[in-house]
Amino acid sequence: VSDSEHPTSAPIVLIHSGAGGRTEDLLTRGEDYRAALAATIARARAALEAGGDAVAAVLAAVTFMEDDVDLFNAGRGSVLCRDGTVEMSAGLMRGADRAAGAVANLRTTRRPIHAAQAVLIDSPHVLLAGPAADAFAERAGLEQCPVDYFVTERQQQRLAQGSGDFVGGTVGAVCLDGQGGLAAATSTGGRPGQWPGRVGDTPSIGAGTWADDRVAVSCTGDGEAFIRSGASRRLALDVSRGTAVEEAGAAALADVAAAGGTGGLIAVTSSGEVTLAFTTAAMGRVLWRAGSEPEIWVAD
Ligand code: ASP
Repeated sequence: VSDSEHPTSAPIVLIHSGAGGRTEDLLTRGEDYRAALAATIARARAALEAGGDAVAAVLAAVTFMEDDVDLFNAGRGSVLCRDGTVEMSAGLMRGADRAAGAVANLRTTRRPIHAAQAVLIDSPHVLLAGPAADAFAERAGLEQCPVDYFVTERQQQRLAQGSGDFVGGTVGAVCLDGQGGLAAATSTGGRPGQWPGRVGDTPSIGAGTWADDRVAVSCTGDGEAFIRSGASRRLALDVSRGTAVEEAGAAALADVAAAGGTGGLIAVTSSGEVTLAFTTAAMGRVLWRAGSEPEIWVAD
């Protein structure tokens, strides 16, 4: 039984681990990626089972992926800027009231998505950037680490190889919870070899991250093109006008292509429609509907 004010629905969680090429790494370490994605969805599920809402579920998922040093481009192990430093960004949005929090170009905060949550809860602002954002996160009680902590040998080698192509690994999650609440979260180290100071789509609300009372969206790919096409907000506007989410997702990615970019996105609507779409060769992703086993894709 449900009433219109507090409808009950079976929760749905979608996760992505970045759109990119079918890299050697993805192909040889497919089982590691699969296990990490399975463990990630288990965290989101546990958060919901413990009584958490959609925000708690997406935070649990993204935090777990940020903590993985080896596989994902978020938190420690992020890709490097062209000067060899790490700059991390994250965005979080709650659908019910469109509350949003985001951080850009963090260098010392261990878990950027928690800093985005702190901006959402504890500040009058939507986006904080740079050293002041790290200082804000520290004041909010979030763990700080030396800048070198985030730099891994694997990413130093990748930078030395000189590939500026984005390789995937940005992480994101969207959730529809049992009360009909929606939330989206995305976290990234940006693009390999980016200029220090560059801000991508991930913390840009309405570009890489969006949630309202009808749909939650998390994007990955060529950030500049996602910003120039307002990708996630565009998808949401189409959904609000009655377009099916799959069609709205395809249209958003077509607009990204028109802006010269490729990538992918995940989205879930308040009525439980989903899309997991990409225009790259691969996008790690998971779809879990309460009552079913998670479906996991790694290298396609
Ligand atoms: N969208 C991210 C950025 O441009 C990168 C990615 O998704 O791989 O910062």
